[in-house]
Amino acid sequence: MTAADPASQTTNQSTALHAQQVLQSVFGYDEFRGLQADIVSTAADGNNALVLMPTGGGKSLCYQIPALMRPGTGIIVSPLIALMQDQVAALQANGINAAVLNSSLSYEEADEVEASLLRGELDMLYVAPERLLGTRTLELLERCQIALFAVDEAHCVSQWGHDFRPEYQQLGMLADRFPNVPRIALTATADELTRQDIARNLQLESAALFVAGFDRPNIRYSVAEKATPKQQLLQFLETSHKGDAGIVYCLSRKKVNDTAAWLEQQGWPALPYHAGLPSHVRAQNQERFLREEGLIICATIAFGMGIDKSNVRFVAHLDLPKSIEAYYQETGRAGRDGLDANAWMVYGLQDVIMLRKMVDESTSAPEIKRVEQQKLEAMLGYCEQTGCRRQQLLAYFGDTLEKPCGNCDGCLTPAETWDATEAARQAISAAYRTGQRFGVAYLIDVLRGAQNDRIHDQGHHSLHVYGMGKERSNKEWGSIFRQLVARGLLRANTERFGALELTEGCRPILRGVESIELRKERKTARRKVGAKTAALDHGLHDDPLFQSLRAHRLEIAKEKSVPPYVIFHDATLAAMVEQQPQSLDEMANIPGVGQTKLERYGSGFLALLQGS
Ligand code: ADP
Ligand code: ZN
Repeated sequence: MTAADPASQTTNQSTALHAQQVLQSVFGYDEFRGLQADIVSTAADGNNALVLMPTGGGKSLCYQIPALMRPGTGIIVSPLIALMQDQVAALQANGINAAVLNSSLSYEEADEVEASLLRGELDMLYVAPERLLGTRTLELLERCQIALFAVDEAHCVSQWGHDFRPEYQQLGMLADRFPNVPRIALTATADELTRQDIARNLQLESAALFVAGFDRPNIRYSVAEKATPKQQLLQFLETSHKGDAGIVYCLSRKKVNDTAAWLEQQGWPALPYHAGLPSHVRAQNQERFLREEGLIICATIAFGMGIDKSNVRFVAHLDLPKSIEAYYQETGRAGRDGLDANAWMVYGLQDVIMLRKMVDESTSAPEIKRVEQQKLEAMLGYCEQTGCRRQQLLAYFGDTLEKPCGNCDGCLTPAETWDATEAARQAISAAYRTGQRFGVAYLIDVLRGAQNDRIHDQGHHSLHVYGMGKERSNKEWGSIFRQLVARGLLRANTERFGALELTEGCRPILRGVESIELRKERKTARRKVGAKTAALDHGLHDDPLFQSLRAHRLEIAKEKSVPPYVIFHDATLAAMVEQQPQSLDEMANIPGVGQTKLERYGSGFLALLQGS
C-alpha cells in the first residue's frame, strides 16, 4: 500500500480544486467528509485505491466524482441489480448521464445503452459483475474510453465475509485487461481477513489504502434484556419512532412473518422480507420500503445490502446477530443522512443457545467454524459489557475513542455491577451436581427449591444446592446464567437441548481464587430508561413545515417513480426548515441542492418555504 507521492502535489492541488467544484455544483455539498477528498484526488489522478468506510460514510462520491472528472465513462460494479436503478435515478436527478446494464433490461434497451456508451455519452454505467465479465461486454469496453472501474461492496470477493459472490473473485482480471484504467474498491466491512482477500483478489496490493474512522456518531446504540420482545419493540416505536421508517431484524423467516403481521395489527405499517418469499413479493416489499415514507420492514439478514435509503431512522434487532461485523453493518443502515437514529436490540439466553447451535451445526470447514465461534463470543461480550458501547465497537474495529460517547445506553444509563461470586458458584454447582444434563429452567427450579415431580424423580431435592438460591427471583437467576454463558463459564450443549456444562473458565471461581462482577439488570424502571435511551429529539415529526416539504417531495417522487430521497434527502429538508431560504440563491446554499436540482425543484420547495 502506498502513500501519495509528494512530487505530484501540485497536480494534486489542481485536482483537489476541480473535485471541490464538482462536489458543489453537481451534488450541492460544500465540503468533503473525512477521507473523501483524498480518495477522490487519488482516483481522479489515475491511481488505484482500496477504501474501507462505514455505511453512510459517503462511499458513492468517492468514485462518482472522479468518474465525472476524468474523460470517459466510469464503470461501477455493483452486486444488486434491484438497487442499481435507484442509484442511477439519484445520479440522473443531479443531471448526470448514468445508465445500468444488467439482466433486467430488454434486448432493445441494452442495445441502446451500449450504443450511447460507444458514442461516449455516458458519465457512468452501473453493471452487474456477471454482465461485466461476459465476453461481449468486455469487448465493448475495450472500444470505449473508461474513466475508472469502481467495485462497490467489494467484500463480496471474500469467503470470510457474509456476502460471498463467486463472480466477484474474477474481477481481478480487470487489472490485466485494462492496465491503464484506475480501479477503486469499496466496502464497509473492515476486518483484516476481508481486507486482505479484497487486495489479493482484485490485484490491489499496491493500491492506496484508505481506512476511514468507523464511528457513526449519530447512531445511538442500546441493548436491553429480552423479556417480552414484541411489547418492548412496540414501546420503543411508540416512544421514539412514530411515522419513521426502520428495519426490524429477526433470525427466522417465521418470526419475520409473525412480527410484520403483528405490527400491522398494532397499527404500524410493516412488511416482511426474507429469502423464502417469492422474488416478486420481495422485490415489491423492498420497493415499497424505499419509495414510501414511514414503513417498517421486518427482515432476515437477507435484506439490506446496498439499501441506500438515507432516512432509515432505526434498526431494531429482535435476535442477536452472528458477529459484531454483521451487527455493525446492519445497524449502519440507520441514519445515513447523518440525522439521529437508533440501533436498538433485545437479547436473551435463548439467542445465545440458538446461535451456538447454528455455528455447531454449520457445515463450514473447521477453521471457518472456529472463526464463526470467536465472532459470536465477541458479539456476546458486546451485549454484556458495562461501559460505553461505542468505545467497545470501535475498539473491535481497531479504532479508539478517547472518551465515552454520551450517545449509547452504557453512557446514558450506566449499568451497575455487583459481586456475583457466590451466586455464580451456586449456579455452577447446580449445573455440576445435576450431571450437566439440564437446561437453565430446570437449574433455576433446583436453586429455588421448586416442588415438582421431575426434580423428585431425579432425586435432586436432596442435593446440597437445592433451594440454596431461594432469595433470588427466576428473573435474577436467568440473568446470572445468561451472563455466565455469555462469558464462557458455562456452555450450552446444543445437542442436548441447551444443557449447561462447565468450562475450564469455572475453575478459578469454584476454587475461590477469582471473583466475578456481573451487571445488574435494570428493574422496574425499564420503561423510563427505555424512553430516555431511545428518545431522539430531532423534533421534525411535529414540524408542519417539514411535513409539507416531505409531502411535496413524495408527490414529485411518485410522479417520477423514484424513491423520495432521490429528490432530496431528509437532511436537506431539515436544513431548509432550519435555514428558511427565501430565494433561489439562498436555496442553492442548502446542502444537497446542486445546480440541476435547484433548477428542477428549487422553486416548488421555495414556494412552500415562502408561504410558511
Ligand atoms: P455509503 O455508500 O458509504 O453508505 P453514501 O455514499 O450513500 O454512503 O452516502 C451517505 C449519505 O451521505 C448520502 O445521503 C450522501 O448524499 C451523503 N453525503 C456523502 N458525502 C457527503 C458530503 N461530502 N457532504 C454531505 N453529504 C454527503
Ligand atoms: Zn457511549
